[in-house]
Amino acid sequence: MIRLRRAVLAPGTTELLRSYTDDIRQRATHEERKARAKALWENRRQVRPALLAGLAEMAPGHERCMYCGDSQGTDIDHFEPKSLAPLLTFDWLNHLLACSSCNSIQKGNRFPLAADGSPLLVDPTAEDPLDHLRLVLPVGTYRGLTDRGQACIEVFGLNTRSVLVKGRMDAYLMAQGSIELWRTAMDRGQRDKATEIVRVAWNHPLIDVLVAMFHQSGHPAADALFVGEEETLDLLRDSELRTAFLHYRGLSY
Ligand SMILES: [Zn+2]
Repeated sequence: MIRLRRAVLAPGTTELLRSYTDDIRQRATHEERKARAKALWENRRQVRPALLAGLAEMAPGHERCMYCGDSQGTDIDHFEPKSLAPLLTFDWLNHLLACSSCNSIQKGNRFPLAADGSPLLVDPTAEDPLDHLRLVLPVGTYRGLTDRGQACIEVFGLNTRSVLVKGRMDAYLMAQGSIELWRTAMDRGQRDKATEIVRVAWNHPLIDVLVAMFHQSGHPAADALFVGEEETLDLLRDSELRTAFLHYRGLSY
């Protein structure tokens, strides 16, 4: 998961979403609202293309899932499930793009809450997941820094889906290659090639790995986190390189 900026919908779509929400609000009980929300959502043809386009604009890489970052995001996920919060069924701020594994198999209707009733899962459009999760780069697994990070690991199977773990290890090697190629291209005066290297690097699946590399290179314990990878750490600390890569995604680690 990486920090994402929410796109702005067209006024017509926003108005349609509001009318659906008003319709649901008119039902008296939670059960009636839930049933109405379900029926309206099953018949969402009028808003589906606009919602998917907005989510695709925000998603990492080529429409990757906002939770795992690996597979194509094909489903509109309700961060707060519509069965629990029917009034948020058509709330744009409650919509995320997810792959079917994350949406249907892993998350389903699971939405764990803290003792104070606040959500334990992290919405990457509302806050930075890296405040809750740390990627152990050489082994491709996440550590929960908070209860919320731990909940994300468990609900989405971030460490138990071996395709994700193996994919992150490969993504680490790919990202190391990308920053080395970028430095070489710049040293040779090949600015267009360097720009293309940045674009392609951000379009790889699992770009949470590249984000974690930049994030951890600024950590006080970076020398320990990158032990044996000093050349990579030096590149990640190259201010020209950081600017070129991070500005492309609007990040500022
Ligand atoms: Zn996913």
